[in-house]
Amino acid sequence: MTARIARALISVSDKSGMIEFAKALHDKGVEILSTGGSAKAIEAAGIPVKEVAAHTGFPEIMDGRVKTLHPKIHGGLLGRRSVESHMQAMTDNDITPIDLLAVNLYPFEETVAKGADYDTCIENIDIGGPGMIRSAAKNHESVTVIVDPADYDRVIAEMGDNDGATTYETRRALAAKAYARTGAYDAAISTWFAGQLGETFPQRLNVSGELKQTLRYGENPHQQAAFYTNGKNRPGVATATQLQGKELSFNNLNDTDAAFELVSEFAEKPAVAIIKHANPCGVAEGDTLIDAYHKALSCDPVSAFGGIIAVNRTLDAQTAEEIAKLFAEVVIAPDADDAAKAVLAAKKNLRVLITGGMADPEGEDMTLRSLAGGYLLQNRDAGRVKREELKVVTKRAPSDQELDDLLFAFRVGKHVKSNAIVYVKDGKTVGIGAGQMSRVDSSRIAAWKAEEAGKNAGEDALRTAGSVVSSDAFFPFADGLLAAVKAGATAVIQPGGSMRDQEVIDAADENNIAMVFTGMRHFRH
Ligand code: 5GP
Repeated sequence: MTARIARALISVSDKSGMIEFAKALHDKGVEILSTGGSAKAIEAAGIPVKEVAAHTGFPEIMDGRVKTLHPKIHGGLLGRRSVESHMQAMTDNDITPIDLLAVNLYPFEETVAKGADYDTCIENIDIGGPGMIRSAAKNHESVTVIVDPADYDRVIAEMGDNDGATTYETRRALAAKAYARTGAYDAAISTWFAGQLGETFPQRLNVSGELKQTLRYGENPHQQAAFYTNGKNRPGVATATQLQGKELSFNNLNDTDAAFELVSEFAEKPAVAIIKHANPCGVAEGDTLIDAYHKALSCDPVSAFGGIIAVNRTLDAQTAEEIAKLFAEVVIAPDADDAAKAVLAAKKNLRVLITGGMADPEGEDMTLRSLAGGYLLQNRDAGRVKREELKVVTKRAPSDQELDDLLFAFRVGKHVKSNAIVYVKDGKTVGIGAGQMSRVDSSRIAAWKAEEAGKNAGEDALRTAGSVVSSDAFFPFADGLLAAVKAGATAVIQPGGSMRDQEVIDAADENNIAMVFTGMRHFRH
């Protein structure tokens, strides 16, 4: 059992909860040391406090650059209570133990996020704070370190139960959290520096994240997994509020992200995306959300079973009622009205996520993946071809309706695993071929799936008749295009750039196909 906390040092930039915490410490008979601004606020609240400068006999100097960097502070934090020579050194040098440290750092990350100038960012690099945190955390056998105001209550409560002391388990957990904080802080500083030096990709990869959830398992039950947030607060799975349903699994999170990123491509009209295994099995725009949902579902209702549904508008009751008829794993929406929430509440197992907004399809970010022995980091695929950038390469130019569908198809195709072939008609996908090792196979599969879905729905005409088709990368041979012609497609969108472009263009012209080149590829592996 550790002795009760007799002396605490409080030095915080984020002063939320500080007064209540200081008061609770004082009520427990703890002597409080504190730095300039924190001390002033504590004193103003009528709580006895001693300035660090008075404690060390050394003033705060250099605009606060040197406040707590003093042996009386670091000795008080680091001295091992269980080692006689340490205690003797304390006595010899007039150092008194500091048993609890509450520090949060200069707001470097927030200052950078605000777009502050170079000098302001530099001034917001905390020096003494991380030093004290690291000292206190190293000596967690005796010292309690708090870096997050959310932990004040827990520590006070524990002191209440423990005769004014904390438990070793708590101190150890708080020490781990403390080093995670200083690690992330330094990572933020070095990432900022890399940016200042004009380096998009720094010499060292600094990835930091907050543990959001330990997952039951990974992609498969024999794999362990966890979910971390990166603090960027982009609307999406990481920041969404879960209204109901079971905990999200690793695969749910991955697929829901794919669904939401995809539906965020569409802003002008209500849109719905249904995802299975990170690939869409139906995407549509409509005049209303329910219209878009019906169209998206009709693409491949068999695959949609157990899927993930993403919408780009506030979910309404009518659409929610339709969704409730399907067995779905997750619904993700920017918002849901009360009536829609009530409808979905009856489906207890359905996970419902509210993001509060849509993702910016052109927003900058990085994507990271690992391979054996390393990591691959790249910019997010924020590329988006605009209508005016399309280059007509065939004798026949696409009609306006074909152009709308071509752009829609290409934007969907960006979110389909390569090789990606997407057939679209009237603002909805009618056939999707994903993840094949040859483009012609994806083309055939997409057409075949469209045919099957049409047959199942009792339709006479081929769904791909009169459709348009998109390819995420160029057709290396005319065969992929000819497969689309066979399926009845009338227009094609693809990046172009193959050695055999002319062969493909000729095949299109021979079949009266309109074809546009985007000049931009959307591989997704
Ligand atoms: P206060 O508002 O109490 O004047 O300052 C609190 C802030 O000062 C905290 O964020 C703490 O981490 C930081 N701090 C404490 N000691 C030092 C030091 O010696 N140098 C620097 N640069 N910051 C310090």
